[in-house]
This record gives sequence, structure tokens and C-alpha cells, in this order.
Amino acid sequence: MISEKDLENISSAVSLADAYFSCRPEKPCVIAEDFFRGDAVNVQNEQNAPVPGAAQSDARTITAQTDTLQSPTAVQTVTRTDEPETNNETALQNIARKIAACNRCRLCGGRTNTVPGIGVPNPLVLVIGEGPGADEDAKGEPFVGKAGQLLDKMLAAINLSRHTNCFIANIVKCRPPNNRDPMPDEAEACRSFLDAQIGILKPRLILAVGRIAAQNILNTTTGINKLRGQFFEYRGIPLLPTYHPSALLRNEDLKRPAWEDLKKFRARLEEITGLSFSTPTQTQSGSTAQNRNQN
Ligand code: URA
Repeated sequence: MISEKDLENISSAVSLADAYFSCRPEKPCVIAEDFFRGDAVNVQNEQNAPVPGAAQSDARTITAQTDTLQSPTAVQTVTRTDEPETNNETALQNIARKIAACNRCRLCGGRTNTVPGIGVPNPLVLVIGEGPGADEDAKGEPFVGKAGQLLDKMLAAINLSRHTNCFIANIVKCRPPNNRDPMPDEAEACRSFLDAQIGILKPRLILAVGRIAAQNILNTTTGINKLRGQFFEYRGIPLLPTYHPSALLRNEDLKRPAWEDLKKFRARLEEITGLSFSTPTQTQSGSTAQNRNQN
């Protein structure tokens, strides 16, 4: 789990990364890679930063920093209210209970915990990963290991967070042995849980991270290099595949295309919601990012 301090660092790094991409396209990778590594400068004066654990009552909140690179100050918060948070929470808990009792496939035999998903109950964005690893199995939460920390940084780069406006779930809810790929019948057995979650969450956009998530959701064998960066639809919801954070950890060359995907995702999110997910430096104005409406 990332700390409050990490979140502050990420917010600042996000500004740096996008400012860099916006202003100096001839050398686009340096700061983005810095921020993906977390080598960001501190934001000392940020107020109202999302607080881990406090997010369940702070749904679909978008923070728009009113800082500049040199003198960050306040954070503007816009909350979306069109989804019934409490009802969703109960419905999600019911699904989590069913997942915990599930023995539809062989993966139930090796699990310590089921990993139904985490995030706000009325998210703007659903992130879909592959399946739990050792850390996730031990904790019962998705994306808590190194890949999870990087995922949080990727999301923060476009003002998204599991604590405020995202939900994160996996194709399979139990850990495959030795972190092998989930088998087709395992993914199929788990699919109705994911579909039920999507039905409750009604996200405005879906980010599918990695080959397994993208191929399963889209029912295709096309490789991730071809799928990434293009919008598809799942159950009427726009979906963008991109690289899995584990892939970025293995191969730094994938960070740049992943960042391009995230910017595309942000643009579509802004188009759909009418909200700004850019920091002031990302808009190059240095002034407060404006959220145009709450839908
Ligand atoms: N990788 C995934 O795809 N999901 C997790 O929950 C953790 C790592």
C-alpha cells in the first residue's frame, strides 16, 4: 500500500511528467521514467491529498492541483454524485462473499485469500488485471506488490486513484500456482463475478492492463502489442488495453508507449466526463485546472 507521502510525491511527479511531454517532445522519456521510478520532488504544501483508507466515503473524487512546479498549494476536489455509493457497496460485498465461497475451478484449492477487488464503489474507471500474485493472495487485495505500486503511479499520472475514483479487479480472483497464466476454463469460471462487478460499478471507462486481461475481456488471441493503445468496447463501456505494470518493470522501453496510452485514456475520460484530469502544468497554463461539470 502506498503511503500518503508517496501520493504527494506522485502528484508532483505527474505534473513534471506531463509538462515535460507537453513542452519538450524532442526528449520525452526522461522525466516520465523518473516519475515511473518514483524519483519525484516532494510537494510540501499540498492540502486535501487523498488519504488511503478514507476513500470509500469520497467516491469519484477528482483532485485538481492548483500548484505550479515550484510552489504547489491547494487541491481542488470535485465529487461525482450520480451513483448510489451505499447500495453499490452492499452489492459488491455480496459478490465478494460469493467469491470467498467459490469452488468453481481448481484455483480455489491453492488460495490463502480470494481477491475480489478494491476501490471506490462508484468509480469512474475500472482497472482490470490478470490475477492475484503471492502478495495479493496473502493480503486479499489486488495489486499490492511492486507491480501494484507502479500501477498506482500510472493511475496517479492521470489523476486517478484506487482511493478516490477507481476500482481495481482481476480476471481471476484466486492466485494461479507459481503465478502462471490463468487457464481459459479458470477465467471462464470467474467471468460472471467480473461481469457482476461491472454491472454494479458501471464505470465510465475500463483500463485493461496486460495481455491476459485484454485477451480475456475481448475474447481474442491478438497480442498486447497490437491491442494496446486502441479503444474497444466491453458491455457498452469504452475499454483501452495497455501494458501490465509488471511488463514495464521488466522492460523500461515499454514505459513510453504506456504513457502514450495513459494520455489517450485521459483524453477519452475528459471527453466522456467533461472533467479535467490534468494538473495545471499539464495544461501549461500554471493556473487551476477547471472541472467543467460533474458528469
Ligand atoms: N498482477 C495482476 O494482474 N493483478 C494483481 O492483483 C497483482 C498483480
